[in-house]
Amino acid sequence: MRLKDRLIRMIETDGPMPVSLYMQTCLHDLQHGYYATRPGVGEDFTTAPEISQIFGELLGLWALHEWQVMGMPSPFTLMEVGPGRATLMRDALRAISGVKAGDEFLKAMQLKLVEASPALRKVQADTLSEFEPDFLTQIDDVEDGPLILIANELLDCLPVRQFIRDAEKNSWVERKVGVAGGELIWGAEPLDDLPFFTPDLNRLKGFELQPGLETMALTLAGIAERGHAMRALLIDYGPNHLPPEDTLRAFYKGEQIDPLAMPGECDLTVDVDFAQLRHQGEKAGLTVHGAVHQGPFLLSLGAEARMQQLTQANPETAQSIFEAAARLVDPKDMGDRFKVICFSSGELPAPVAFF
Ligand code: SAH
Repeated sequence: MRLKDRLIRMIETDGPMPVSLYMQTCLHDLQHGYYATRPGVGEDFTTAPEISQIFGELLGLWALHEWQVMGMPSPFTLMEVGPGRATLMRDALRAISGVKAGDEFLKAMQLKLVEASPALRKVQADTLSEFEPDFLTQIDDVEDGPLILIANELLDCLPVRQFIRDAEKNSWVERKVGVAGGELIWGAEPLDDLPFFTPDLNRLKGFELQPGLETMALTLAGIAERGHAMRALLIDYGPNHLPPEDTLRAFYKGEQIDPLAMPGECDLTVDVDFAQLRHQGEKAGLTVHGAVHQGPFLLSLGAEARMQQLTQANPETAQSIFEAAARLVDPKDMGDRFKVICFSSGELPAPVAFF
């Protein structure tokens, strides 16, 4: 049975489905889910590490620097959550191995990957085999000890709930997926209580909430509370101030399509609410830096110098190296829209490249 038919049957049995359950099922259903069965990283959508090697390299050097700030602990865990095709980590570890102190970092490092997709776990295990990664089911499964965590474009695929304000009735409804005439349709159901409230909310027409942002903050705070140094660098797209309204989007072979059209066959994504993420980090007791914009973040880590090295070493492909690097930092491209936030345990100084 196709996923669409199963979803229709589920909704006919249990009633309209919150967007979060729809998203979770479409992305992660083990039999038919997008990431579980046909993850199209680099095909349906592309990401910074797939655009330019500079991205992973600079994040690797960031991690090396933060490990030094922690006092070069050995052993320590380097964790990536949602590593996709492992391009970021491959580039990061190559860059680290090329600099002084890199050998010591690699000797002390225990590489842990948290990945929901069995298909991608296989790619990651192959690509990173020389570093002998362990796969964890969840972040929390990490052993006690110092931790540096990186996650790029993970948060945007955490399931979202969507709330819409009914201005006439002065009340809120939750957007749901229903069924009519054998097709999936958008609908909404009244809501007694909002799951959380901020004073500004009544000025909005609607807002989105990813419960996973709070879970992420609480999980990391739990690790930090165990008394070891912890840094988590989270990168994604989304606004810094107002909460996003309806940003659910579906991508199939690079084209944006209707999120209800091809469940399980396309990527589903939303904008990350960085103000909410920051709030959840602080509420959980973490030290929060950022969010800062990706462009200045990468530039202050040396993006321009690295780009020049690469173009000089590869004059025949200099133009494409330049264009790819420019996409990451250009404010009109990914430089502004993507944000970087860092959660840390309390005793550490500010991480590098956060102003
Ligand atoms: N970080 C990679 C891939 C981004 S795509 C890059 O920048 O190219 C999103 C990644 O997160 C995929 O690897 C996907 O399978 C994984 N993912 C999505 N939800 C997840 C979850 N709840 N837990 C762990 N991994 C998840």
